[in-house]
Amino acid sequence: MLDTATSAPTIRGMYIDGNWVPAARTFDDLNPSDNSLYARIPDGSPEDVRRAIDAARAAFPAWAGLAFHERAHYLLKIAEVWDRRQSDFIAAAMAEGGGWFGKGAFEAGYVAEVFRSASALCYQNTGEVLPSEHHKFMMALRVPLGVVSVISPWNMPGILTSRGFAAALAAGNTVVLKPSEDTPYAGGLYFAEILEEAGIPKGVFNVVTCSRESVGAVGDELIENPVVKAVSFTGSTAVGRHIAAKCGAHLKKACVELGGKDSMIILEDADLDHAAKAANFGSFMHQGQVCMSTEKILVQESVYDTFMKKFLARAAKLKTGHTRDKDNILGPLVNTRQAQRVKALIDDALAKGATAEIGGKAWDNFVEPTVLTNVNSTMDIWHDETFGPVVIVVPFRTEEEAIALNNDTEYGLTAAIMSRDEARALRIAEQVETGICHVNCQNINDEPHVPFGGVKASGVGRYGGRWSLDAFTELRWITLDRGGRHFPPAF
Ligand code: NAD
Repeated sequence: MLDTATSAPTIRGMYIDGNWVPAARTFDDLNPSDNSLYARIPDGSPEDVRRAIDAARAAFPAWAGLAFHERAHYLLKIAEVWDRRQSDFIAAAMAEGGGWFGKGAFEAGYVAEVFRSASALCYQNTGEVLPSEHHKFMMALRVPLGVVSVISPWNMPGILTSRGFAAALAAGNTVVLKPSEDTPYAGGLYFAEILEEAGIPKGVFNVVTCSRESVGAVGDELIENPVVKAVSFTGSTAVGRHIAAKCGAHLKKACVELGGKDSMIILEDADLDHAAKAANFGSFMHQGQVCMSTEKILVQESVYDTFMKKFLARAAKLKTGHTRDKDNILGPLVNTRQAQRVKALIDDALAKGATAEIGGKAWDNFVEPTVLTNVNSTMDIWHDETFGPVVIVVPFRTEEEAIALNNDTEYGLTAAIMSRDEARALRIAEQVETGICHVNCQNINDEPHVPFGGVKASGVGRYGGRWSLDAFTELRWITLDRGGRHFPPAF
């Protein structure tokens, strides 16, 4: 629960088999705005994970055996409890995650819809009836997998955690969640409070928290334990690769949503006022710490100067500072390690000849909104996901050049194209190598019922709508022979 005066939570323990249980040790969870102590969090062990997995295994038959509408009712109840406690989530996301009030409010509203759309999935978990060469009655049935491990990131602890497990529950699986060590409350134990209040049967949903030091061993148990049938992971490409490789070795399903280096392409016929506003949001919303953040703005040469004037004027107005002041649209980066990493990317670019049109300054865990030009592919920032309030702007001449610049990355999450000519934009949309492309909007878009996911190093699998059922169910082929199958006479 949250103390409303200080936004500090009372940590009751990890949530295993419907009980709040301590770990042998705790770790410090800091408020990144000032590095003050936010909470002491249980530092779980592989043994704690095993207990949670056993509880999830024991709860599976009854949960999977519920009538589908009963699972839907639980998911709707979760949404109802979540809505009632939205202000607690906003406070936690601001203090623990370093987000602006508006970002927390957006996330709080979105999460309830994740559960409502998952409840609708309970009614859509359909199989197929197939034709048979032997006149059998043949079915492809969708069945739940069993226990699913969910590993979530810190940047959108509400949306990305709920998205990671809501469809899994809808399909009849049971869950062990390990939230990020940077948001173990908002992205983990807070969900346990909500699901407990919603009356979820014990063992169906478990939360194990741990520190970055413990995550190697805890993560291995979450993946390798033979009871676990699939892993739902959102996070960095480096960790996602490691998890997908381990899942491959153990022949387990993995849905991995990873990083991005997303471009916005602004064509000469774009509405430049709209483009400047959209680029400002796409680049700097939540300090650029969104997998879909606009990291490269590609602008057609003839409108480059006009666009830059409008864009820089908007970006310069964004205030950065402690999240308790609602005027600060940009808060801190999530921790000191991330702030130093982003600063190093800026410094590398400046040392190799880039120009900071605005920004470039960093202090404590804060980095000012920064716009870099004269960037080239020798600079780390050209290739690396920045995950900070930094955007590079690059001019281009032709559509072909814009497409090539967009595709010059190992990532492929989203692209944005600004043009008044929808046919032209669609032609380009078909050639950019991303899982998602938005015409006349910026890159950060998601809705609970869409097939969300990337290509290339941005991930494998899709979250959202009926597509998430592919990640969290197995298809079984079942036949009823009605005398049509003949065997060779020798038998
Ligand atoms: P991260 O990969 O460092 O951590 C993600 C999760 O993995 C955390 O819970 C962490 O504790 C866990 N983890 C770390 N090492 C592990 C291991 N060895 N075994 C098991 N689990 C382990 O990522 P992050 O810093 O939390 O998040 C930022 C990254 O996530 C960015 O790259 C961002 O682009 C990406 N992201 C992607 C999406 C998407 O939908 N594509 C959404 C949000 C964030």
